[in-house]
Amino acid sequence: SKARGRGMATIFTNEMVETHKRKLSIANSIDQGIVNNEFVLFYQPKIDRNGQVIGFEALMRWEHPDFGLVLPGEFIPVAEQSGKISLLTRWAIEQSCADLSLLQSVMQHKFRVAINLSGHDLRHSELFDVIYQIFTEQQVNPEYIEFEVTESAYLENFESANKLFKRLSNMGCAVALDDFGTGYSSLSYLTQISIDTLKIDRQFVREISTCHRSRLVTGAIIDLAKRLSLTICAEGVEELSQWEYLLNHGCDHVQGYLFSKPLPLEKIALLPDYFDFG
Ligand code: C2E
Ligand code: CA
Ligand code: CA
Ligand code: CA
Repeated sequence: SKARGRGMATIFTNEMVETHKRKLSIANSIDQGIVNNEFVLFYQPKIDRNGQVIGFEALMRWEHPDFGLVLPGEFIPVAEQSGKISLLTRWAIEQSCADLSLLQSVMQHKFRVAINLSGHDLRHSELFDVIYQIFTEQQVNPEYIEFEVTESAYLENFESANKLFKRLSNMGCAVALDDFGTGYSSLSYLTQISIDTLKIDRQFVREISTCHRSRLVTGAIIDLAKRLSLTICAEGVEELSQWEYLLNHGCDHVQGYLFSKPLPLEKIALLPDYFDFG
């Protein structure tokens, strides 16, 4: 009715309408974006205890014709809601495999490229076949690849995810549990996991400098990972004091602006062989 229509107009502000329009427009231009090569992977180095680069996380960006550089925090949720995420996941796997040879030519030693998977990807059993097919076509050694899955995505798809991770690890890939500690879950599932690495969420790392209890929790997470023979990686390391704390507590790998922001592929060669703040 007219009355209801008018009521709606007062509820939705212009800003909400604009946000909604942008969301719709983003959802509707994903296919075209893939065809037009508008997506790009940036790479953020992962660093070991000696300051050596031992891997890269592939992080997606979108050079959108109307909106400029769009970050994944905006378009990944839209892609998930609109059923387009599997297209982007396939693209990200293909592209990181294509980028691998350049990374190999720059790096003097073994490393892994970490690809982010979404919870939606884990629900479909064909993901393993997609990965296997891409590796075969591009002659990729699976030992150069890691997959990252958030704790909540993993828990929502526990059985299918475990099955997938076992097959991936039999092939030589590594699997990391991302954003660990933010899923508000019980820890009982840790007895049944098939993963290699826990990634401590940035939130804990940020609070290392300011909050005594966060330091204790971070230390305990590292300890837990060690006892389970898992590799532990901390993300969002921005300050030397944070890295020192993590090193002192046995953290294996770190990632963060202290070392480097995510970089376009062509800038990777400019990274130092190892990071030394001494
Ligand atoms: P994530 O997997 O937890 O990735 C880490 C995010 O933290 C990245 O944001 C990275 O740029 C940012 N970051 C790294 N170091 C620091 C630091 O020291 N300080 C701060 N403040 N931030 C730091 P980004 O690239 O915007 O990605 C956001 C999220 O989007 C990712 O979170 C991931 O969940 C998702 N994402 C990115 N690429 C992909 C993809 O190819 N596929 C899927 N499914 N998700 C992706
Ligand atoms: Ca990640
Ligand atoms: Ca993360
Ligand atoms: Ca995150």
